[in-house]
Amino acid sequence: MLVAENIQKLRSALPTGVTLIAVSKTKPAEDIQEAYNAGQRDFGENKVQEMAAKYEVLPKDIRWHQIGHLQTNKIKYLAKFVHLIHSVDSLKLLKEINKEAIKNQRVIPCLLQVHIAQEETKFGFSKEELVEALRSEDFKSLLNVRIDGLMGMATFTENEDTVRREFLYLKNLFEEIKASFFPISVHFKELSMGMSSDYKIAIEAGSTMVRIGSFIFGERIYSINQ
Ligand SMILES: *Cc1c(COP(=O)(O)O)cnc(C)c1O
Repeated sequence: MLVAENIQKLRSALPTGVTLIAVSKTKPAEDIQEAYNAGQRDFGENKVQEMAAKYEVLPKDIRWHQIGHLQTNKIKYLAKFVHLIHSVDSLKLLKEINKEAIKNQRVIPCLLQVHIAQEETKFGFSKEELVEALRSEDFKSLLNVRIDGLMGMATFTENEDTVRREFLYLKNLFEEIKASFFPISVHFKELSMGMSSDYKIAIEAGSTMVRIGSFIFGERIYSINQ
């Protein structure tokens, strides 16, 4: 019952208005079911096929969040059911999501991922790239994707000042982008930032969605080819 306890602990610590995404990547369906039984409905995965397999066997009212880098050829596996894609990091990807959304006769909610960390390995738009994409005619023609906000990952470091600075940068950018491109949107309101190690700092900086894995489910064990 550890999973249920951890969920309750987090729930009572999160301010209202902050959604808890339980990151269940690498964890078996039984762990997800345990969290579900504790009332959790939002789950995050980073591998499309893993998410699709879990979708098939778990309760259909689970809201599935794609949080990891998404390849265009994988969109078709999640287009039918995904609740929110947090990791849109190019206009090209957004166009492909739009195509699959049309095939499935739906609108797919997305967040645009911004590169805020020092590590080069992390994905995401720079501020300049983001503004350029949002200004483009291509973007304006995409009617089957909806932009609900921004997502970012801070540098993996013990230095809390660095993490705080990066989250505040993203919060600022969020407000600027909202004012410039989505002034009357009721949907552009999500700021997905914060993981097990830094969610408290993220919430102080204005996060509305925290993506928490190891705090809930324990450390992940990766096989050599993951
Ligand atoms: C794995 C992952 C998380 C959760 O990480 P924890 O440290 O286990 O909480 C959050 N966001 C993304 C994008 C991830 O890949």
